[in-house]
Amino acid sequence: MTDCLFCKIVSGDVPAKVVRSSDRALAFRDINPQAPTHVLVIPKDHHPTVGELAAADAELLAEVLREAHEVAADEGIAGTGYRVVFNTGAQAGQTVFHVHAHVLGGRGLNWPPG
Ligand code: IMP
Repeated sequence: MTDCLFCKIVSGDVPAKVVRSSDRALAFRDINPQAPTHVLVIPKDHHPTVGELAAADAELLAEVLREAHEVAADEGIAGTGYRVVFNTGAQAGQTVFHVHAHVLGGRGLNWPPG
């Protein structure tokens, strides 16, 4: 999509601190990190939400989740614990409507989230 920020990161038109790239997924550091590790993992194809991605291409969603775990391993937090979050819809705090997994860790994380 031409007006999608994360599609522009995939195409290289908007710079990002990329930490991993697979055939179909990209992981890059969040511009406003909420934890010592805060990486976003996205499918390179445009899907607005996790529900729509699950319905359209479940294997691609699995790829995003595998990459999220690889990010945690690369960051050294796979053993201590990390959180994978898909904010879905405006009331849940989704601001970018290109599905993304937040990978958060490196500090204690409260539950329930705010
Ligand atoms: P959401 O609120 O769940 O949709 O998450 C969107 C995330 O994208 C937020 O955590 C933002 O800080 C992050 N973000 C917005 N623009 C950029 C960018 O250009 N590069 C990296 N992260 C971004």
